[in-house]
Amino acid sequence: MPVKSRIRTVPHYPKQGIMFRDITTLLKDPAGLRATVDELAARYADMKIDKIAGIESRGFIVGAPLAYVMNKGFVPIRKKGKLPAATIGHDYELEYGTDRIEIHTDAIAPGERVLLVDDLIATGGTAEAACTLIEKIGGEIVECCFIIDLPDIGGRARLEKHGHKVFALCEFEGD
Ligand code: AMP
Repeated sequence: MPVKSRIRTVPHYPKQGIMFRDITTLLKDPAGLRATVDELAARYADMKIDKIAGIESRGFIVGAPLAYVMNKGFVPIRKKGKLPAATIGHDYELEYGTDRIEIHTDAIAPGERVLLVDDLIATGGTAEAACTLIEKIGGEIVECCFIIDLPDIGGRARLEKHGHKVFALCEFEGD
């Protein structure tokens, strides 16, 4: 497994009990980075995608090269206060408190078909908020894709319940 085997697990980061799935070891390896982008590009080659939206910040690292090789536009979904023009935002729950992500209102034209990209899905809260933003400005979500799914945490099921398709290059189960 060219992708999964290159992901490093850092136990107890950023706090006790969290198994942090670190993609820096995948990204620094040319074969790993290439396999990640190429596998996604192959999957979506025939799916009629207009825009690729990446979630700050690790979603940018995968989403931008994917958009480049697929010859699509890239749209950043950012943490609050970072985008300079007119935005809409959506608040979502974290384990402690809330966070907010934003998108430029003119980032996606009504009816455009959008592929959402992030590095990892855990609870699915971030991706669900991103889907809400994309749909609010008229985008149609083709699929939400990730390098890593943590199926025990249930994010995939949560997105699927809301009618979204989900794809991940690998899963880490059971720990
Ligand atoms: P969630 O909204 O719970 O699906 O969390 C997804 C976001 O949190 C992703 O953008 C990840 O970068 C980050 N994240 C959550 N859990 C982990 C983990 N175990 N290892 C690495 N990143 C994580």
